[in-house]
Amino acid sequence: MKLREIGEFGLIERVAKRAGGGGEGVVVGGGDDAAVFKPSRGSLTVATTDALIEKVHFDLSKASFRSVGRKALCSNISDCVSMGARPRHFLVTIALPSRVSVAQVDELYDGMLSLARKYRISLAGGDTVSSPGPIVISITLLGEVKKKNLMLRSGARPGDLICVTGKLGDPRFGLGRYPRVREALSIAESRLATSMIDNSDGLARCLIEICRMSRVGARVDVSRIPLASTLDLALYGGEDYELVFTVPGSRLKKLPKKCAVIGEITRISGGIKLIYDSGREKNIKSGGYQHFDDQ
Ligand code: ADP
Ligand code: MG
Repeated sequence: MKLREIGEFGLIERVAKRAGGGGEGVVVGGGDDAAVFKPSRGSLTVATTDALIEKVHFDLSKASFRSVGRKALCSNISDCVSMGARPRHFLVTIALPSRVSVAQVDELYDGMLSLARKYRISLAGGDTVSSPGPIVISITLLGEVKKKNLMLRSGARPGDLICVTGKLGDPRFGLGRYPRVREALSIAESRLATSMIDNSDGLARCLIEICRMSRVGARVDVSRIPLASTLDLALYGGEDYELVFTVPGSRLKKLPKKCAVIGEITRISGGIKLIYDSGREKNIKSGGYQHFDDQ
């Protein structure tokens, strides 16, 4: 079935039906001019937004609509939990060219909604527009965190150990991956880490951001980086949704399984350094994917 046959309102109705409506903390869900939420007592609201553009972030000759839908929500969930926040509600803006079929939009939403069900996140609204070119999916996710569990990039201190979950450098750029929800929330709620970031543009960028925001330096032992593929992808590739976080030595006993210590936070004057087995040291300056790089 073509989109033209059911039109914008038909499509919105269809999406609303699949979303199921309601959800804990949703006072007014989809269907009105705006959604209304009641945050849990004593919680702060965390908001994050991420967009996927066809041909920039995904290619439909390589990825299914379902996996693209899932990835769109995945990157938002990953950003939310790396702040220590529980994801609660999301809104979706989709821009669709007329070549897309209703079945394909269904698949896209299946991808998002299956992940949403898994983590008990409700779809609370969105916007539907036509696109003259690429498909665009933009998701805004709202989450909640108790102030004491909030995890920022800015809390790392010299002497803290740099830790990572899982393996870095996913060759599929996050398509087959799940966000580290359980791990991130347990790291935040057990007050294990002093800073945390999710890996969306490679380890080099994570280190740069933590060091910039915390005003510190870092030394990373290259041989200790757990690799999902090549070192280059681990350092400069993107979106494996693993967590990079810093832990004071005294709390290291509490480090969850499947986490590795890869280095140490130093004073800012130490810069950000990769240490190779040969003893060679390399300074990290920039790297990682940047939009507009090719222009
Ligand atoms: P308005 O014209 O007032 O912006 P819309 O027709 O865009 O209203 O949206 C009607 C309702 O449907 C709103 O509650 C909106 O949140 C929801 N909605 C619209 N598009 C989507 C979408 N792509 N996914 C989920 N909900 C949507
Ligand atoms: Mg609208």
